[in-house]
Amino acid sequence: MNCFDCPLMCGADRENGETGACGVGRLSCAARAARHYYEEPPVSGTRGSGAIFFTGCNMRCVFCQNLDISTAGAEGEGEAKPLDEGELADIMLRLQELGSHNINLVTPTPHVKLIERAVPLARAHGLSIPIVYNTNGYERVETLKRLEGIVDVYLPDLKYVSGRLALRYSGREDYFDFAAPAVMEMHRQVGGLVTDEDGIAMKGLIIRHLVLPCAVDETRRVLDFIRDNFPIDTFISLMSQYTPIPGMKRPLDRRLTRAEYDRAVDHAIALGFTNLFIQKLSSADGSFTPEFDGFFE
Ligand code: SF4
Repeated sequence: MNCFDCPLMCGADRENGETGACGVGRLSCAARAARHYYEEPPVSGTRGSGAIFFTGCNMRCVFCQNLDISTAGAEGEGEAKPLDEGELADIMLRLQELGSHNINLVTPTPHVKLIERAVPLARAHGLSIPIVYNTNGYERVETLKRLEGIVDVYLPDLKYVSGRLALRYSGREDYFDFAAPAVMEMHRQVGGLVTDEDGIAMKGLIIRHLVLPCAVDETRRVLDFIRDNFPIDTFISLMSQYTPIPGMKRPLDRRLTRAEYDRAVDHAIALGFTNLFIQKLSSADGSFTPEFDGFFE
């Protein structure tokens, strides 16, 4: 069967050994499965999020922090482990046994067919924690519709509005054309974020946006779009953790400045958002920590 699951619609016959433009072939692979503590507080909680890091990606971000995972080969090169649905279901159940608050599917888009089969299997064997779909946002609505009732919490990026920046930094000029309706479809399926008595996400949407150096105006455009198209109490995670990788060209060869991040946060507050996660930013050495420490309500 040819794959048209993501906006690239490359049509690779992965079941018969072809490799898609995402780098994924017949078998899905996971590079890592473990409890993860560096997501937003409703996702990581106190016991961690049960993260499954899949290989492959349908974007080509020049600043990718997981390049070894996202560009890993089709059939488990290096440390990646090939998975069928039974093995993926077993990993989910094991992460639940370890106490994870949820199952966090990281870069899941090229693996939707496997996820569609694995989650019901895991549910039949006792999986009761929420499924989090942690995506770059470059999705087809048609594919997301197949996940209705399977995914509980959507955690999409909304990286760019401008096609020029999306092309320059992620190689996908049409990013917003797909990401905008995709995030709206996610909201249609699960609505606003609902948490339990301990503040742990049970269902709903958190939109993430990474503020980039020299691109605060782009952040403002993203926030304006959210303000115009989603409820004002939509949960937004405004991330400051951009870290340049070696050899990066200007302006991505440096971290975000405090002034840039403050401008982004000020705009979000001025727009009236009532649920906004912000990150700590150390002024002493210009470094950033991944923990989230701010939450306006
Ligand atoms: S998910 Fe991969 S194989 Fe499927 S259409 Fe996208 S790039 Fe092609």
